[in-house]
Amino acid sequence: MERTFSIIKPDAVKRNLIGEILQRFERNGLRVVASKMIRLSREQAEGFYAEHKGRDFYEPLIEYMISAPVIVQVLEGEGAIAKNREIMGATDPSKAAEGTIRADFALSVRENSAHGSDSPESAAREIAYFFSTIEIC
Ligand code: ATP
Ligand code: MG
Repeated sequence: MERTFSIIKPDAVKRNLIGEILQRFERNGLRVVASKMIRLSREQAEGFYAEHKGRDFYEPLIEYMISAPVIVQVLEGEGAIAKNREIMGATDPSKAAEGTIRADFALSVRENSAHGSDSPESAAREIAYFFSTIEIC
């Protein structure tokens, strides 16, 4: 079964939206097979978003990601990578489809409530970045 990596981002954790967001995944056939709450260090956030280093939104993105705890999790299900991104909606909440997490909860393009891996390669890298094999059920 396919696995993907997911983050419930600081804006959502701060606003008590963990349950609301998890419900969207579970209702749509994604199972949580690993989960923990962590506060990212600057180094961890920079490593995670290294692909965006140099972009104008990079520094504020890092500041935002370390501003409060996050939930990091592994979701499993058929077509989990695409399904997760479909449930999240477009990066920019004003362009996200109705009923998606970002359309319903995101505050801005940056504070967009959730992260989901965008390919099998990213999923494998991101899962390994935060979890060891014995932490995944
Ligand atoms: P994520 O990787 O977090 O799942 P994504 O794949 O939809 O989101 P990316 O292009 O990978 O989007 O950007 C990573 C994150 O950087 C976005 O989720 C958002 O928080 C932030 N971001 C991206 N583009 C912008 C922008 N133009 N202005 C502000 N923040 C942005
Ligand atoms: Mg991305």
